[in-house]
Amino acid sequence: MTTAARTALRLDASVHHERIQRAAAEAAERSVDALLITPSPDYAYLLGYHAPALERLTCLIVPAEGDPVLLLPRLEEPLARHALGELVEEIHLVPWDETDDPIRLVQTIVAGSLRVGLQDQMWARFALRLRAALDPAELVEAGPTMSALRRIKSPEEVDRLRAAALAADAAMRTIIGERLSGRTEADVSRHVRDLLVAEGHDTAGFAIVASGPNSASPHHEAGERVIESGDAIVIDIGGTRAGYCSDTSRTAFVGAPDPEFAALYAVLREAQAAACEAVRPGVACSEIDDVARGIIGEAGYGEAFIHRTGHGIGMETHEEPYIVASNQEPLRAGHAFSVEPGIYIRDRWGARIEDIVVCTDAGGERLNTTSTELAIVE
Ligand code: ZN
Ligand code: ZN
Ligand code: ZN
Repeated sequence: MTTAARTALRLDASVHHERIQRAAAEAAERSVDALLITPSPDYAYLLGYHAPALERLTCLIVPAEGDPVLLLPRLEEPLARHALGELVEEIHLVPWDETDDPIRLVQTIVAGSLRVGLQDQMWARFALRLRAALDPAELVEAGPTMSALRRIKSPEEVDRLRAAALAADAAMRTIIGERLSGRTEADVSRHVRDLLVAEGHDTAGFAIVASGPNSASPHHEAGERVIESGDAIVIDIGGTRAGYCSDTSRTAFVGAPDPEFAALYAVLREAQAAACEAVRPGVACSEIDDVARGIIGEAGYGEAFIHRTGHGIGMETHEEPYIVASNQEPLRAGHAFSVEPGIYIRDRWGARIEDIVVCTDAGGERLNTTSTELAIVE
């Protein structure tokens, strides 16, 4: 990641200060005495920069009561000071030297804690050593505490998601305006990655190009198959811009669409639109899934819709809340998630339409603005 991408993530120091305070309050509410946040999206959310995840321990310690401590290898201190900006005044930096034992330092800092929350993606080598060092403290996942904060997006975060979505839309418009037959999936995929960056992403995350029978595999990896007339093509692309992710899918058909495919696609399009329409505060995540699944099921494609309707999105492509039948959580203003039903007929073809939707007090706002009509390509 470039320095520009790193600092672009940072918001006003007061925003990060408030996030750390809220993390402490959410931890207290869950009877967690301290959070140990290693380099990860959680770390970047709180501190405004991505620290490298290395064999040397970097760990933000957020106690439920008291001041946050940033324990880090001494050689990482200059980068941290630079990246933290004014926020550095609010955090107690504890640089450790090559011969120090950072686990021992954590043990000293959180001494007396009964419950400690570990960042969900912490490396096992640290988690296991911490478990031994902090015994008999109970170790729990910091995930629920952190996602209580991160699942509700501020207007500033929604702006970033919108900008990322627009950049992905521009790339999508270009790709479905091109001649695709005669090219390999891998070629088109590489081109999409370039377009994602050219349109303003800091990094291209993924570019699924699934053609012909491959379109029946939702997470197909673009390969050497040559796209030909009569193919359905699922294009699912996304990247990161100023710390926030894009993720959108459109389906194309090479040449005049087979009537059977056109019928399938019409059902999918209706289901996706209805699920987007159903978004408003108070509606359960499961209901959004149910709306899409109901329409697809009624048309006889129920068995062919083999994944959940969507996932939350923010600093990670997949995060809470998940739009799945088992999630009774009511939507709230500030939730941002994908609505991406799909229909997949094995060995034949498949289709998916994916938009990012933000729940607002007035209903759902679609961040993706490209047409959801079946794209006819050459
Ligand atoms: Zn996916
Ligand atoms: Zn998605
Ligand atoms: Zn996607």
